[in-house]
Amino acid sequence: MTLVLLVADGARPDAFPAAIDAGHLPALARLRAAGSAHTITTVFPSVTGPAYLPFLTGWHPGDAGIPGIRWWDRGGRHVRTPGGARSYVGIDALLADGDLDTRCRTLFEAEPDAIAAFAPFTRGLPRHRRLDGSPAAWLRLAWHHFRGDLPGWLALERAVADRFATRVARERPAVAFLALPGIDKVSHALGADAPEVLDAMRVVDGTVERLTDDAERAGRGEALAIWIVSDHGHAPVAHHDDLADALRDAGYGARAHPWAWRGGDDISVMVGGNGMAHLYLDLARPTRPWWPTLAPHRTALVDWLLARPSVDLVLLPLDPARCAVRARTGNALVWRDAAGRHHYRRETGDPLRLDADTPPNGLDAEAAHDATIDGAYPDALVQIIALAGAARSGDVIVSATPQWDFRERYEPVPHRSSHGALHREHMRVPFLTSHPVRGTPRRTVDVFPSALARLGRSVPDAGQGRSFL
Ligand SMILES: [Zn+2]
Repeated sequence: MTLVLLVADGARPDAFPAAIDAGHLPALARLRAAGSAHTITTVFPSVTGPAYLPFLTGWHPGDAGIPGIRWWDRGGRHVRTPGGARSYVGIDALLADGDLDTRCRTLFEAEPDAIAAFAPFTRGLPRHRRLDGSPAAWLRLAWHHFRGDLPGWLALERAVADRFATRVARERPAVAFLALPGIDKVSHALGADAPEVLDAMRVVDGTVERLTDDAERAGRGEALAIWIVSDHGHAPVAHHDDLADALRDAGYGARAHPWAWRGGDDISVMVGGNGMAHLYLDLARPTRPWWPTLAPHRTALVDWLLARPSVDLVLLPLDPARCAVRARTGNALVWRDAAGRHHYRRETGDPLRLDADTPPNGLDAEAAHDATIDGAYPDALVQIIALAGAARSGDVIVSATPQWDFRERYEPVPHRSSHGALHREHMRVPFLTSHPVRGTPRRTVDVFPSALARLGRSVPDAGQGRSFL
């Protein structure tokens, strides 16, 4: 059998159902009718690259060593470029596999009979099994990306999807991975509700139609399973608060891309999405300073952040399993105990707006998901600890207020819509399957172990997902 994993990058959970109901996506309508449709939770940061790790490894991004689409390497032991900062928006994307924790097993290592296109992590996949592996292909991608040429991008995407379908029909791999970034690109430039988003969704629909037709014509319709998922949602932005510029104006020496090697030694500002940022402080210290050691001289910085309307949540990692949460509405503590249970203690107010008379306490990962899923910050208890406790994460992590993001300059196309934050609009994504599923899909991190179960492969013990099959 062949399992096709199709990432409709940046699709909101409501986008496909609305377009299917309106009759615009006939192949997806048939797929949904025969299978199932769900809304599940992605990871924080809800940004392309890190948010692909759940499908490709079953790991949360921080644990996998990729805490953001931009991050800073304290001590400079891993990143060799001047300034020690990584940004996968650009040539560093070629280094992503090498940044991945060696304990992660990728989809392509677990199932070598695979092909992939537009996968940001391809460890274990030989070059001839990648459809976008040539330098010429990368140059074409970069050209359309930096020009912000949306019709050009969608034409290129259709061509790649077509080649992908041809190879699926011919080679019948066990697993075939295709990411289609068009919905995300159109949403950033024009807004997630723009009519042009439908053009990008039609590429997904056309790909499903082609894959299904080819399989049925070859008499192997039942041997084809298609799963469609997204890596993050999208929400409108009315204001950009360029955090690096604002910090410099406030007198801090701040480094940020694209000039990550200069600007000062106070703070390294690594924005992604652009609804979140890792802030690294006391850059000369070779080992990670947890918040208690920073608090005496950095409290003013946190007060400064919370005074900005763009900043919704400030996360202050206390140690690998505890994190202070600050918001204008109050302070709280989130932690995971030695038995893996999650806790929330309000100190003042209710920064995660859980609105419960009894704050969630002592919950395993599933229960912690279900207790927070209807709120403003779905899965917040698990997601905050997974990111805040990770070795490469910032010493202060900020999540943006709805309608705001943290980057103004140096974007090839001005963002009208963004993602990256812990907010509901960014964290919930669609998940469609061509066959009904019996269990309850909760998170994108469950997709990887479920895919291996579907393929009849053993599921590694490491990793945080649970199979829903
Ligand atoms: Zn994006």
